[in-house]
Amino acid sequence: MSEALKPGATIGILGGGQLGRMLALAGARLGFDIAIFEPEADCPAGRVAARTVTAAYEDLDAVAAFARSVDAVTYEFENVPVASALEAARHAPLRPGAKALEIAQDRLTEKTFLNEHAAKTVRFEPVDSAEAASRALDWLGGPAILKTRRLGYDGKGQAVVRTAEEAEAAFARLDAPCILEAFAPFTREISVVAARGLDGTIRAYPVSENVHGGGILRETTAPAPGAGAAQTEALRIATAVLEGLDYVGVLAVELFELEDGTLLVNEIAPRVHNTGHWTMDACATDQFEQHLRAVAGWPLGDPAPHSAARMVNLIGDDAHGWRAHLDAGGLVHLYGKREARPGRKMGHVNYLSPI
Ligand code: AMP
Repeated sequence: MSEALKPGATIGILGGGQLGRMLALAGARLGFDIAIFEPEADCPAGRVAARTVTAAYEDLDAVAAFARSVDAVTYEFENVPVASALEAARHAPLRPGAKALEIAQDRLTEKTFLNEHAAKTVRFEPVDSAEAASRALDWLGGPAILKTRRLGYDGKGQAVVRTAEEAEAAFARLDAPCILEAFAPFTREISVVAARGLDGTIRAYPVSENVHGGGILRETTAPAPGAGAAQTEALRIATAVLEGLDYVGVLAVELFELEDGTLLVNEIAPRVHNTGHWTMDACATDQFEQHLRAVAGWPLGDPAPHSAARMVNLIGDDAHGWRAHLDAGGLVHLYGKREARPGRKMGHVNYLSPI
C-alpha cells in the first residue's frame, strides 16, 4: 500500500488547460506544489502553478524527467498518449492509471468496456469503410450518428446521417475509423461525477442535468430536479466503471435519460469535468480538491452540496459578460485565456440557491 503524500509534496499534472488551472488552485490550498506539463507555452494552468514544463506529450524523455521530479502524476486531458502515460508511470505513481486513458480514448473500446461492465449504451457498429457505414445504418436504422473513434470532443468529429448516401459521404469527410451510433431518444442529458480513493472508497456528487448547444456544454443544473431513481442508477454505473478500471481520482459519466427512466452511457471522462464545476461553490469538497485527495492517497471529502447550483459556461465572447454576471450575483470563474475565440471555454459562472 502506497503512503499518502504529505503537504509540501509535488503533484504533476499532464495538461495545462482550465481543468489543470483549477486543480492547481485547489492543490495550492492543500499545501501541494503543482507542476504542469503542457505542450503550449503560456497555458492557463501554468500561470497559477509552482512550475511548468513546456514539451510535447510525445517527448518521452521530457515526460520521464517530469515524472521523476514529482511525487505523483495525474492528468487533466484525456488524449494524453497512452505511451506517455505509461512512461510517466515508470517513474512516479500515475493516478488514475493508463488503462482509463486507453479505454476512454477510443469510442469503440469505451462502449465495449461499458457493456461488459453492466452499463448500457446505445447500439453501435464499428465502421471502417464507406460500405460499412451504409451497412451499419441499415442495421441500426436512421437517424444515426457517425463519430470518429478517436479525438472527437465538444461535438467535433461527428455527423448525423439518415440515408446510405449521407452515411458514405460522412465517412469520406471524417476520413478515420468510426463508429455508427443509434440515436438516443433522450428526454434529458445528465451526468454523475464520482471519485474513488486509493483505498477503494467511492463518493459521488448528486447527478446534474446538462444542456448542450452546438455540441458544447452550455448549462448545468445540480442537483438534477427529480433525479431520485436516476441518482441510484448513476451511482451503480459509476461504481462499476470506477472498479472496473481500478480507478483512483475523479471521473465523470455522461448519461442519456430516456422516457422510461433508462440510463444509457454516452461517454466517460477520466478526469475532472465541466459538469462538475458547480461543485466549486456548492459543495463542502469540490471536484478538484476531491481529485487531488484521491491522487495524494488522502481520505475523500464530503461531496454533499450545501446549495443548489446553476452553472453557466462562458464560451467565446460570452466572457465579455463577466460584469453582468457579477451584478446578477453570479460567482465568476475565468480561466485567464488570452483570446476569446468562438467555441472556446473562457470561464463559467455559478449561481447558487437554497437547496
Ligand atoms: P459527444 O461528443 O459524443 O459527447 O456528443 C455531443 C452531444 O451530441 C451529446 O451531448 C448529445 O447531445 C449529442 N449526442 C451524441 N451522441 C448521441 C446519440 N447517440 N444520440 C443522441 N444524441 C447524441
